[in-house]
Amino acid sequence: MPTRLRPIVTVLLLLLAAAFSFDTVPVDREMVARIREEGLQHSRVMDFESYMTDVLGARLTMSRDMQRGQAWLRAELTRIGLANVAAEPYMDYGVTWDNEYVALHLLEPDYTPMVAYPIAYTPGTDGRKVAPAVIVDLQAREDLDRYRGTLRGKAVLVTPPVAIDFAPLFNGTPRRTEAELRALEATVIAPIRPTPPRTVQRTDLLTAAEKLAFYKAEGVAVVLQCEGGWIGAVRGFGRPGAREDGWSRAGMLASPPVVAVTPEHYNRMVRILGRGIPVTVEVEVRTRIGDRVERAANIVGEIPGTDLADEVVMLGGHFDTWHASPNASDNTSGVAVALEAMRILKAVGARPRRTIRVALWSGEEQGLFGSRAYVREHFGDPRDTTVGAKPGYEKLSAYFNQDYGAGQFRGIYLQGNEAARALLTAWMEPFRDFGMTVVSNQSVGSTDHVAFDEVGLPGFQFLQDRIPGTGGHTNLDFYDTIQAEDLMKNAVVMASYVWHAASADARMPRKTRR
Ligand SMILES: [Zn+2]
Repeated sequence: MPTRLRPIVTVLLLLLAAAFSFDTVPVDREMVARIREEGLQHSRVMDFESYMTDVLGARLTMSRDMQRGQAWLRAELTRIGLANVAAEPYMDYGVTWDNEYVALHLLEPDYTPMVAYPIAYTPGTDGRKVAPAVIVDLQAREDLDRYRGTLRGKAVLVTPPVAIDFAPLFNGTPRRTEAELRALEATVIAPIRPTPPRTVQRTDLLTAAEKLAFYKAEGVAVVLQCEGGWIGAVRGFGRPGAREDGWSRAGMLASPPVVAVTPEHYNRMVRILGRGIPVTVEVEVRTRIGDRVERAANIVGEIPGTDLADEVVMLGGHFDTWHASPNASDNTSGVAVALEAMRILKAVGARPRRTIRVALWSGEEQGLFGSRAYVREHFGDPRDTTVGAKPGYEKLSAYFNQDYGAGQFRGIYLQGNEAARALLTAWMEPFRDFGMTVVSNQSVGSTDHVAFDEVGLPGFQFLQDRIPGTGGHTNLDFYDTIQAEDLMKNAVVMASYVWHAASADARMPRKTRR
């Protein structure tokens, strides 16, 4: 190489090294130390978790329980010291629905109390009913005549017997193995799927909503069902058709009472009936259904920024839950982590450059309604000409979410945003001792970061350990399955990521195409 070119090449090489090195991303060691000390020595995360699960309990969007919960949440954000705490109503979300009482007993041939919960947005039983149980196999229109006039006053078992999922019983719930983490770290390119051949749609099949309408018209005492194979667990969601009818009072009252039962109790009834031996159950469900349409809301609060105060870094998770348990993991744990991250930042006296805003969503379980409405209202969508990109679109740096259970963060998903890799990797480095090591190129879904990602804004979900428990959406998602240490670490990591994003020289880079 000619001597005169040497300095130029050296500079070029250095620039190249800088571009590909994570060492050039500043990590605020002093702030990390303060965040770690506050979050690991003086944590309140399990206090938040306990209050929400023990005192508030389940928080179905548009229930009195949820309204009570959100009132507490607003007060708590204020107590933490956040500014601009507010409820932001975003859409008409039907009438309130609350379960106040449920009891299901096997009376004959052998007395047993059974574990069961009503399906959300279904009515009560109008008192205690004693009913003979019958198996109903209703698939297509031609089946209707077979059952017409035979179901009045009956407890109808409408799902087939359930196959028990033995995997958790045999295997327990391993945290992530090293091999699994390395596999998640390896770049995965989504396979190109061949277009599936067109299948002929049967038009004679009844929808779930049509089946319910039939049971109602036939005057059944109660519909019993089981849709999950986990021993001891009731998996219960919302009534089919509830979203379509806008969670209306009329829609709720037009349904028969529907009760989900654990697999072991449900299968037992099916087996007895299969022997030709009569089964009698006693059932009572009381629900409270509101009489006016109300608006669902998200709850927000801020630590105002300084020199870049009009730019925003967000964090959060969904505050709403399904109704059959306190939902300690899904997603009370994510809310506890977000609250604790904000508390830590306030406690260490953080004065971020950008505004840090926490958002606790509602309507997630029914379909990300809260976060999507928020993104549309505040940031818009450049690809949707009816709303376009709003001024806020350029002001959001990034959104960080927790909603994959209560396990410890082991990494973060890039969501396909390669431009964010260097930053997210560098900010992870101070938490190697937590076992946080993976930056995965994968895109993951099913929760509120999607609302940001799908309009081209950086929205991230952390990669989490599995921990024992039933996961979400069951009656068994309790405080007692939560690992305190995991949530403490998550809050520290969350606070640190948010701090670094809020302090960085530039906004979080975005995907060039979506
Ligand atoms: Zn969730």
